[in-house]
Amino acid sequence: MNQGSALLTAPSAIRHDRPLTVGPIASALGDAAPLASEPAQTSDGKLVFTDELAAEISRESARLETASPEEILRWTVERFAPKFTMATAFGPEGMVLIHMLAEIAPQTPIFNLDTGYQFKETLELREEVKRRYGIAVEMKRPATTIEQYEQQHGGPVYRTNPDQCCFDRKIKVLNEAVVGMHAWASAIRRDQSPDRAKAPIVGWDKKFGLVKVSPLANWTKQQVWGLITKHNIPYNALHDQGYTSIGCWPCTRAVMFGEDERAGRWSGKTKTECGLHTKD
Ligand code: SF4
Repeated sequence: MNQGSALLTAPSAIRHDRPLTVGPIASALGDAAPLASEPAQTSDGKLVFTDELAAEISRESARLETASPEEILRWTVERFAPKFTMATAFGPEGMVLIHMLAEIAPQTPIFNLDTGYQFKETLELREEVKRRYGIAVEMKRPATTIEQYEQQHGGPVYRTNPDQCCFDRKIKVLNEAVVGMHAWASAIRRDQSPDRAKAPIVGWDKKFGLVKVSPLANWTKQQVWGLITKHNIPYNALHDQGYTSIGCWPCTRAVMFGEDERAGRWSGKTKTECGLHTKD
């Protein structure tokens, strides 16, 4: 069912070696003020959150509120590539963004936080993405295997302290994965949860020191699945077994009819997010 066969058209020739200025896509959206040629950064390449950058983020986020996800991605690539990256857990929204990036900027580095606890169906999608789009999603792993990690902590940390487990197996790894980057794309939608309802299209991610772009913030679940169906975009086989949101296997269950789409994540616990998309 997820074996897409249609090949995409040749990727558009977005170059990463030119000055960072507003391109025709951004200009076509209207009201874009000229951007600084290069955002301020530290000597080791970290983005500095200046007043100018704050103003730019605020202005562009408002301007892109009515833009399509493709337009948002094009603006992001023009503004930040090659220091633009994307993290994916191979969820339906992430697969939609990968599908779009395959056409807009296939050279965008995309990575997965491979905690060691992912479902085999999730890992299989990496191979499907490679086959379908020619994109090799990089697997970023913690320093320890799950066996070493559990041995160090006297058993599975996801049972006793899932926040710590997410921090060690995801947050720390993401921090290392984005060294040298200035912007990252997230696949969150505002209607997924109250936590995500206020996500801007473009925002400052204080936790990771990056500009965070959420091209699908305004999309609905129906729009995501509509595009998946229309283009036969690959998706996780577990979605056909009642799993609406998929993370690590110890912290994910299928949902029942009428339940919230994220109800199967950390079910029975107060935890609702791994921390990648929360402010603190
Ligand atoms: S989702 Fe569960 S298993 Fe995965 S890192 Fe977080 S607590 Fe650990």
